[in-house]
Amino acid sequence: MTDFVIVGAGECGARAAFALRDRGFDGTITLIGSETHLPYERPPLSKDALVAGAGPKLVAEAERYGEAGIALVCGRTVASIDRAGRRVVLSDGAAFPYDRLLLATGARPRALPGAPFSAGRIRALRSHDDAVAIRGHLSRGSHVAILGGGFIGLELAASARRLGATVTLLEGLPRILTRGVPVEIAGRVAERHAAEGVEILCGATVAAVEETPGEVRVRLSDGRVVPASLLVVGIGAIPNAELAAAAGLAVDNGIAVDGHLRTSDPDIFAAGDCTSYPLPLYGGRRVRLESWRNAQEQGILAAANMLGGDEPASAVPWFWSDQYDLTLQIAGLADDAAQTVRRDMGEGAFILFHLAADGRLIAASGIGPGNAVARDIRLAEMLIAAGVRANPADLASPDTKLKKLLAA
Ligand SMILES: Cc1cc2nc3c(=O)[nH]c(=O)nc-3n(C[C@H](O)[C@H](O)[C@H](O)COP(=O)(O)OP(=O)(O)OC[C@H]3O[C@@H](n4cnc5c(N)ncnc54)[C@H](O)[C@@H]3O)c2cc1C
Repeated sequence: MTDFVIVGAGECGARAAFALRDRGFDGTITLIGSETHLPYERPPLSKDALVAGAGPKLVAEAERYGEAGIALVCGRTVASIDRAGRRVVLSDGAAFPYDRLLLATGARPRALPGAPFSAGRIRALRSHDDAVAIRGHLSRGSHVAILGGGFIGLELAASARRLGATVTLLEGLPRILTRGVPVEIAGRVAERHAAEGVEILCGATVAAVEETPGEVRVRLSDGRVVPASLLVVGIGAIPNAELAAAAGLAVDNGIAVDGHLRTSDPDIFAAGDCTSYPLPLYGGRRVRLESWRNAQEQGILAAANMLGGDEPASAVPWFWSDQYDLTLQIAGLADDAAQTVRRDMGEGAFILFHLAADGRLIAASGIGPGNAVARDIRLAEMLIAAGVRANPADLASPDTKLKKLLAA
């Protein structure tokens, strides 16, 4: 085994490359990415990159790739995988041979039908270049319309308000944060945005979008028109699975891998946002996570398994979002909860514990200022991983230390 190739130089691909070396692999590692920047972290894009104009937060400085002997190929795209010839072919015709291949191609923003993204006033927020372009439109006196009340849209709304822009957020469903976020937490987030002056219009369906050199106008199906300097569309992401599909690999809401991140070809692995995998903690249900920690952990895990390891992808899903001084954290998947109990923690912070019908703790969602919920969510994550059946009254009482439940 001498040549390892990684397609996708994001969080996941870069972590995998370093993990291969950390685990003693001494063959060639080629990390290929379409973006011209060195691999960087995306979470700051909706936060510091907008508010402070921060440059890309690199996964590692340029020298570290050289020191680790990682050949980083930036600004070039893999166009196909030649499985029979065991090589990837780039859009410029170059080819790289592989013994083992990792696909870490991430996801791309979903466009609104009839309103493609433009270099002007209809934008998405996925890359550092997107953040720079959006920031150029955010100032006192500008008006940003955001389509989609998910995490990215809401974080963008908070950052835009901090820069003094007027914000209208349009959500098609009856409330914001419908995907995996309990109604109480979504309500708390909505209240805070309203208090900060964000106009949130739920149940808003877009009939048409018109872009002119001076503005963009969003026409809603009830006849209302929202004129704005910029429209940012945040209606979800599509996994970049086409490369895998064209090579005949199984695809099911992303590149389908087994519990060890192997695709249907034993020499090709996939990890991060582009991947769906079975999660044993939730009965083997196939999930695709879009989260920073998942991208990191799966990159490291894929590296171990590419080297012949047998490590299962079994981590409890975890996600955080920062909006104003509020931090929201979710551990686990709450969809199948039979019961939810609330623990109030002071200063308006609270955690919801979600229990399965058999009493097992399967998820915990919390919100509060700063780090108010971080410690207990971390402990809840351990309780979830351990499959603990907890007494709802204990969970609800702030006097019960979660550490004690874990020890018990
Ligand atoms: C604005 C924003 C804010 C976020 N905030 C949070 C947060 O607060 N908390 C959290 O947990 N998560 C957050 N996330 C999610 C998190 O950043 C992602 O889950 C993570 O970046 C996924 O990493 P990845 O490496 O799997 O994919 P990506 O980061 O998407 O990287 C994939 C890379 O592969 C490249 N690529 C794709 N196809 C090819 C090809 N054919 N050839 C070469 N290169 C290719 C892409 O250009 C891209 O650079 C946020 C994401 C965004 C966009």
